[in-house]
Amino acid sequence: MTAYLDHAATTPMRPEAVAAMLPFLTERFGNPSGVHSVARSARLALDEARDAVAAGLGCEPGEVIFTGGGTEADNLAIFGVHERRGGMIVGTAIEHHAVLHSVAALGGVVARVDANGVVDLDHLARLLRPEVSVVSVMLANNEVGTIQPLAEVAALVRRLAPDAVLHTDAVQAMPWVDVAEVAAVADLVAVSAHKFGGPKGVGALVVRGGVPLEPIIKGGGQERDRRSGTHNVAGIVAMAAAVEATVAGRRDTVERVSVLRDRLADGLLASVPDAVETAAPGGDRSGKIAGNCHLRFAGVESEALLLLLDGAGICASAGSACASGAIEPSHVLTAMGVSAADALTSVRLSLGPTTTDDDIDLALKVVSESVARLRGAR
Ligand code: PLP
Repeated sequence: MTAYLDHAATTPMRPEAVAAMLPFLTERFGNPSGVHSVARSARLALDEARDAVAAGLGCEPGEVIFTGGGTEADNLAIFGVHERRGGMIVGTAIEHHAVLHSVAALGGVVARVDANGVVDLDHLARLLRPEVSVVSVMLANNEVGTIQPLAEVAALVRRLAPDAVLHTDAVQAMPWVDVAEVAAVADLVAVSAHKFGGPKGVGALVVRGGVPLEPIIKGGGQERDRRSGTHNVAGIVAMAAAVEATVAGRRDTVERVSVLRDRLADGLLASVPDAVETAAPGGDRSGKIAGNCHLRFAGVESEALLLLLDGAGICASAGSACASGAIEPSHVLTAMGVSAADALTSVRLSLGPTTTDDDIDLALKVVSESVARLRGAR
C-alpha cells in the first residue's frame, strides 16, 4: 500500500477532470481561435470553461486569464503590473518562489512573518507607501499551511498605498478556502489546476476590471491580448471541471480531512518524543488549511526520514530544497525564526480529498517507527 501524503506538491486528477478533457484530446481538437466548425466547437468549450472558472473564483468571465500554471500566473501578476506602473513591489517572506523571486528581480521588499507563519501587519504597514505598485500576499502557505489575514492586509493596502494592486497567490488555498469570498478583496488572484485535481501546466489569474497589466507572453493576442499562445483547451476544460468539483465538495472535504489531519498530528505528537508541530500555537490548528500537517522531529534529518518513509510506502515531503548539492533550510521556516538546524528536521504530510483512514493508520505507524529507528542509529 502507498499512502500519498504530498497533496501540497500535486494532487491526483479528479475523475471528472479526466473525463472532461478527453474529448479535447481526440475529436474536439480544434484551435479555438479559428472560425470553422471544429474551431468553434473548441471555442464553445473554452467559453463554458471560463464561465465555470469565473463562477468558482467569484469574478466575471472576462476577468479570467488562463495561464500555463501557478508560476506563470504569479509572474504575470507581478511583472505585468510593474511593466505598466513601475513603482515598488512588496511581498511577504514566506511567499512561494514564483512570487519571491519575481519580487526580488524587481528589487522589491518583503514583510516579516511571526513565529506562527502569519504576516506581521505592523511590519507590512511600515513598508507600504504611495509609490508601492504591487503588494503580494499569499492566501495559504504551501509549506506550513498558514492562512493569511487577507482582509486586514487589504485594509492596510487601501489606506497606506491606495494606488497599489493587491495580488494573492491562492494556489494552495483553493482546495480548502472559499477563494471566491475570501479573495474578493484582492485585485489579482492566482490558482493552479494541479493543486485541486486538475492537470499540471494550467492555471488562471483573475484580473479584476481596471487593473493595468502588460502581457509577459506576447504573440497572437489570445486572452484579449493579455496572454498569447494557443489555448490548452483540454487542460482548461479539465481545470473548469476540477473547480466545479472542488467548490461543490469543499465544505465536506474540509470537515472530513481536518479530522484525519488532527488524528495524524495528534497521534504523532503523542507517539514521537520531542515532536514539534509547526504553526499550531498551543495545539490550535484553526489558522491552517485542513490538509496541512507539518512536524519537526529533533535530531532527525528530514532527508533520511523521507527515504525511510518512501521505502515503507509513505509519500511525503520536507521543508527544504536541494540547491547546488547542499540541502538548504526552508526560507519559510527560517522566516518564522526556526533555526537552520531545526528547519532541516521538518516533514510536511499534506492530505487531500482522496486521503483515507488507512493512509493515516499507515503514516502513524511508519513515521513513528522510522523516527525511532533513525534516532536509535545515531
Ligand atoms: N504558488 C504556490 C503557493 C505553490 O504552492 C505553487 C506550487 O507548488 C505555485 C505557486 C506554482 O504553481 P505551479 O506548480 O502551477 O507552477
